[in-house]
Amino acid sequence: MKSKAREEIATSVVIIGGGPAGLTSGYELMKHGVKAIVLERADKVGGISRTESYKGYRFDIGGHRFFTKVGEVKAIWQEILGDDFIQTPRLSRIYYDGKFYDYPLALFKTLRNLGLVRSFLIVISYLRAKLKRYLGLSSTPQTFEDWVTDCFGARLYRIFFKTYTEKVWGIPCNQIRADWAAQRIKNLSLKEAVINALFGSKNSKSLIKTFDYPRLGPGMMWERCQEILEEHGTPVHLNTEVVRVEREGRRIHTVIAKQGDRNFELTGDHFISSMPVTALMHRLHPPPPDYVLAAARGLTYRDFLIVSLILDRAYLFPDNWLYIHSPEFKVGRIQNFKNWSIAMVPDANKTCLGMEYFCSEGDGIWEMTNTQLIELASQEILKLNLGVKASDIEDGCVIRQYKAYPVYDGEYRRHLKVLEDYIRGFENLQTVGRNGMHRYNNQDHSMLSALLAAKNILGEEHDIWNINVERSYHENFTDQEWAQLKQKTAESRADRKSLTPAA
Ligand SMILES: Cc1cc2nc3c(=O)[nH]c(=O)nc-3n(C[C@H](O)[C@H](O)[C@H](O)COP(=O)(O)OP(=O)(O)OC[C@H]3O[C@@H](n4cnc5c(N)ncnc54)[C@H](O)[C@@H]3O)c2cc1C
Repeated sequence: MKSKAREEIATSVVIIGGGPAGLTSGYELMKHGVKAIVLERADKVGGISRTESYKGYRFDIGGHRFFTKVGEVKAIWQEILGDDFIQTPRLSRIYYDGKFYDYPLALFKTLRNLGLVRSFLIVISYLRAKLKRYLGLSSTPQTFEDWVTDCFGARLYRIFFKTYTEKVWGIPCNQIRADWAAQRIKNLSLKEAVINALFGSKNSKSLIKTFDYPRLGPGMMWERCQEILEEHGTPVHLNTEVVRVEREGRRIHTVIAKQGDRNFELTGDHFISSMPVTALMHRLHPPPPDYVLAAARGLTYRDFLIVSLILDRAYLFPDNWLYIHSPEFKVGRIQNFKNWSIAMVPDANKTCLGMEYFCSEGDGIWEMTNTQLIELASQEILKLNLGVKASDIEDGCVIRQYKAYPVYDGEYRRHLKVLEDYIRGFENLQTVGRNGMHRYNNQDHSMLSALLAAKNILGEEHDIWNINVERSYHENFTDQEWAQLKQKTAESRADRKSLTPAA
């Protein structure tokens, strides 16, 4: 951008946010020669999937596995990173009541850890839940607590689901909607759960044993994507915050972006937004009706921070991450980034642990200073039975992430429906991604919504608000069906000669 007090820029598509969703829309449009521009508020791309670094130690905002059943998403990851996309074996355990449990639970080890009496009670409570369901005495689960209790029994729920889930969300499990469990644990059928519990996860198709990972962390994917976009005429402007989105009725005509002291006016034919949908509603001008703003205010988020500790230890434990279920610890999960990719540490004799704290802006943890947080994380790592000594801890740093999790509370569905209906009414605005649609999505489904939004601009017709339906459609494709779809898409691309070529 040129250094003018208020510059006007005209483009075909304005994309708000340079996270996985925004960049994916840009990537798809770039491939089809459509002129687009990406505006990113932060000083780097990647959003929640960025990689931060401190003294050469690289770390994610929580470990980011790359796993998908959506072929088109996987193809994009491969195209962007090629050989830098490595395969990482998965190992993670649960820490509860002073002991480590394999995750997924392996029967004999779990029983040994729990002891005979507790194990017996767990089996009884599991059978009771099954019997209740068999006799038709259980109603449709409404909350996370109901859903898990219905599947696994009350005791297993209390030990392996309740404390960790409440750490993550900061609200009791009986206030979290069952949708969350259904979305995250859905593919694990009851039959598989039992097989897992009895024989370990190798018999399960749902719980994967390896995952893909960029050699230098997830940010590498998105930084490389940014380079490709810029090389091919799609600028990505960092440190550029969208402060106003101007509309006339249900048509967006201009976006006002702020870069330092300078403001820019961007006009476009189409607008794709991956910023939090609540913030978007408050930036619309003229503002939306009061009932829409009230719905936006009704949606809430959970924030997150990670304390990365640098330890003078070559080896600590083999897991990629550990879940800390014990309620006496504030830390929720511990990442060992070296076990994701050795290139994440600059010195193979050291270890970098990411101590993850789930919190909410303004609460006790969030309000602690960085020094206090490093002290808390150090105390907790010493108390956990991981063999760390005080003299091992060399240094630490803190990264905070606002709006890390869209919250699925009892009211969210009603509020989100209001926003969805309002946004659907726009001629040229699509919201995509995790916070853009208030969906608890991983990168792949955040990207899928963005990919389909771009395809809509290219002339296809996808209902991105019903992406779950669309997703399972994609996931169930055979290779032959995929080939047919690609052929059809290629033909429709050939018909689209009137697209604006990239600048
Ligand atoms: C702890 C944790 C662990 C996770 N683990 C995994 C995992 O293992 N695997 C996985 O696939 N996914 C994981 N995820 C989910 C993943 O991070 C998200 O799905 C993904 O980052 C969402 O991409 P997005 O582009 O929709 O949103 P975001 O990543 O939130 O990106 C949105 C972008 O918009 C920018 N923005 C916001 N407002 C404005 C504005 N006004 N103007 C300009 N720009 C703006 C933001 O700065 C941001 O860069 C995890 C998430 C968390 C919190």
